[in-house]
Amino acid sequence: MAVAMTLVIAWILAANPPASGQETVPLGHLLAGRTVVIDPGHGGFDPGSIGRQSTEAAVNLEVALALRRWLEAAGAHVIMTWSKPTDIPKTRKYRVQNRMEFINSTGADVLIDIHCNASASVWHGPQTFYWNGASSYHLAQSIQEELQYLTKTRREVKRIDQYVLRYAKMPAVNVEVGFITNPEEERLLLTPAYQNRLAWAIFIGMERWFLKAHWPLDLLQAPPPTELLIR
Ligand SMILES: [Zn+2]
Repeated sequence: MAVAMTLVIAWILAANPPASGQETVPLGHLLAGRTVVIDPGHGGFDPGSIGRQSTEAAVNLEVALALRRWLEAAGAHVIMTWSKPTDIPKTRKYRVQNRMEFINSTGADVLIDIHCNASASVWHGPQTFYWNGASSYHLAQSIQEELQYLTKTRREVKRIDQYVLRYAKMPAVNVEVGFITNPEEERLLLTPAYQNRLAWAIFIGMERWFLKAHWPLDLLQAPPPTELLIR
């Protein structure tokens, strides 16, 4: 298996040789030119889950903005469902159907929904969810592997029936970046450096997913080649 993997990697590098004078392929290379929709969950009238110091919508937006910065630096085209607290009126509840119509109208390559989880205060760690199809499943896996590496969480990818995931016309995942109901994790979620690291993990997971799109199906279905992950 390792030999086969090495051959595939060699083939990918041969197919995408670094520009002359460069020794390595720049990080984020596979994201250049892609269109990505980021949907920070909730907003405006709807704060989402409530922490001791903050709301889910506020945390979702900060992580989404950090992810947008990484993606734009890599040359991706990023569309956000909202990017300022004032984008959604506080006086009336938005309709998730309208948000969904907007997301599908973009024709984006991929949708990343950002949320925070809520439960008993001892629960912690990020977790990635998907609903439709192999592409979304592999995207969720790639992102969750990076989040596991970052946070040491043992949470695994789960299939879940959520409106946005069900009706998205592109590969779509919901990244629950952590439990806002855990005071320690909430403190982390409010720290810009940690928000940035979460966004980085999602970004690298996305990059690896675009890389996997070049792989033959039998390799995709094999267990993840952990010895080849970028660390
Ligand atoms: Zn939420």
